[in-house]
Amino acid sequence: MTASLPNAVVTATAVAAVSIRGVRKLFGSGENAVHAVDGVDLDIADGEFFCLLGPSGSGKTTLLRMIAGFELPTDGTILLQGADVTRLPPFDRDVNTVFQDYALFPHMSVADNVGYGLKVKKAPKAERVRRVGEALETVQLGAYGSRKPSQLSGGQRQRIALARALINRPKVLLLDEPLGALDLKLRQQMQVELKAIQTQVGITFIFVTHDQEEALTMSDRIAVFNRGRVEQVGTPADVYERPSTSFVAGFVGTSNLLEGSVASSLLGVEGTFTIRPEKIRVLGTTETTEGSETQGGHDVHAPGMVQHVEYLGPYTRLRVALDAGAVLQVMVQNTGDGVARGPGERVVLAFERRHIFDIQ
Ligand code: ATP
Repeated sequence: MTASLPNAVVTATAVAAVSIRGVRKLFGSGENAVHAVDGVDLDIADGEFFCLLGPSGSGKTTLLRMIAGFELPTDGTILLQGADVTRLPPFDRDVNTVFQDYALFPHMSVADNVGYGLKVKKAPKAERVRRVGEALETVQLGAYGSRKPSQLSGGQRQRIALARALINRPKVLLLDEPLGALDLKLRQQMQVELKAIQTQVGITFIFVTHDQEEALTMSDRIAVFNRGRVEQVGTPADVYERPSTSFVAGFVGTSNLLEGSVASSLLGVEGTFTIRPEKIRVLGTTETTEGSETQGGHDVHAPGMVQHVEYLGPYTRLRVALDAGAVLQVMVQNTGDGVARGPGERVVLAFERRHIFDIQ
């Protein structure tokens, strides 16, 4: 919808930091042609932490490279603060990029790496030293200026790359899977730090990831990519709680699909619906026979048999084969006072209609 109303989506008071209008990118030609980006429209607000989320090959990096100016769109327009930059070279755009592999100069000290952009711009030495100091403080590495990149950990190197990208105070920072090379624990720690730094500096961040948990944790809004197109744009809660397509429901978290005869027999309507595993309660067969509608407000009841049980520490994951035909995943929190279920046990799955979403 926004595609045909380019001016309507930007409010009178705020020009979007980045506007993407009908952008396409075709690599190759004829039989070998790849539609890497296939008609994307987006508005990213000033100061927003915006994630491009999607599986490998869905076009996220190609879109990021077009915003940076490393790649020219086949069609469409890219605006930064309302100005058309589609054909400007990277150095004429007020954006900077942080790459997954850090791209630090190994022979230079940390301080020289961070100050490199200012040196190229011929900033006076005193100003350089001051701003390098500030940038290193922002990423909490004030004492590391004289080290070489090889003397730092992966997380520290990534923070140096961030400081180097922030020092010119770009309007927009583009981050291409910047945490991809870090182990899980460090990655989670850096997610929190990166978000805190973004809030502190107030710069628009556009962050590419294929990791849905990372996108949900950090973003103000997420665009979910599939085959070069955007399937849904929304807050993490929008995308997770109210997926608008079956692709989004399946890619962002785990989702159960109710379709065909299963949907008609359980819900009384035709269509394709989704329900998240943690929204389903598991009841014993006798629990449902009287008054459960009023007790828990669980207005759909689906009898079935437990197929598989997986203990995950805080949760247990059950697979339940419904009599109506589908196999649903259910997440049960291990509160310590629940009833343990075993394979072969008859149960009734109960869920509220408000947690079921209609998808395309
Ligand atoms: P990943 O998460 O793996 O980086 P992605 O979502 O960022 O994936 P892109 O790198 O944008 O995806 O690639 C989108 C499609 O375009 C892929 O099919 C890819 O093979 C293709 N592609 C990307 N760059 C080129 C290129 N220079 N020449 C030809 N095809 C390309």
